[in-house]
Amino acid sequence: MQARHLCLCLMVGVSTWMMGAALPVRAQAPARPAPLPSARLWEGVSRAWSSPPVDARRDRVWHNIPGLAGFALDVPASERETARSGDGAVHLVWRLVPPAVRLQDLPPDVIYRGPAQEKSVALMVNVSWGEAYVPKMLQVFRDAHVKATFFVDGAWAKKFPDLVRSMARDGHAVESHGSGHPDFRRLSDAKLGAQLDETNRILEAITGRRPRLIAPPAGSYDARLAPLAKSRGMYAILWTADTVDWRNPPPEVIVQRVQRGAEPGALVLMHPTRSTVEALPAVIRWLEARGYRLKTVEDVVDERPAVMPPATLARDTLRS
Ligand SMILES: [Zn+2]
Repeated sequence: MQARHLCLCLMVGVSTWMMGAALPVRAQAPARPAPLPSARLWEGVSRAWSSPPVDARRDRVWHNIPGLAGFALDVPASERETARSGDGAVHLVWRLVPPAVRLQDLPPDVIYRGPAQEKSVALMVNVSWGEAYVPKMLQVFRDAHVKATFFVDGAWAKKFPDLVRSMARDGHAVESHGSGHPDFRRLSDAKLGAQLDETNRILEAITGRRPRLIAPPAGSYDARLAPLAKSRGMYAILWTADTVDWRNPPPEVIVQRVQRGAEPGALVLMHPTRSTVEALPAVIRWLEARGYRLKTVEDVVDERPAVMPPATLARDTLRS
């Protein structure tokens, strides 16, 4: 009801303004700027799309939960832009409002999920085997216009640098899964630090970009990991929902596990397997049909919203 009312307000506001702009102008009249949208229209736009930021917080179950930036409409800038463009559209200038408490402000801890205030999911792919399925997986992501986060084993990356380059070239986040899949809890401090540094060096040599995230092999970690990661400007990442696809269940089972595990803010773990590649198109279709936006884990830790509010409002947009 509220949304419908808003919509009507917007339509009335914009169509009144558009009609004003479309009035015939006398031949000799000097060029005159179109009248600006009313204060009421800006209020309606702001109510419809602005969002308050969400603070990062510590949680007993989920450890550190990143926050989420909000959006505020910059009315004077929107008015200026609308007047300047003169293209008949209402131009909206949004300001990103960072959370008052950001993830980086919290004491170091691992991350299992993003904030539940946004209906988004991040697909994470741990890669230390399964090279035969990586190209197909990349093709599925390409076809679906989805960006995922690949946590790549350094030893694997050395063997298959072209596959790692393909991930990066396709715009996916290439992050660290350590090297050689050791149990992080059993490593000395020096060896644990070397896992972070060495894997970063290997991946950076291939992609030209230093990883900012580490997913510990098999999810095994202790209290040393998050502080070590933070001292390197990195975050330690676990997952919210696991497809357990490494056991090679039929693709339908993978789809069902995602359906059961999907919730706003979830990080969904998968691997490059035959079943996953077969299930992935259905997984993505189901998530998008349910209104989930897909984002990378980098977006999650950077507290970046999955979608921007609209930059322009045209008559056609408001009608649809
Ligand atoms: Zn692994």
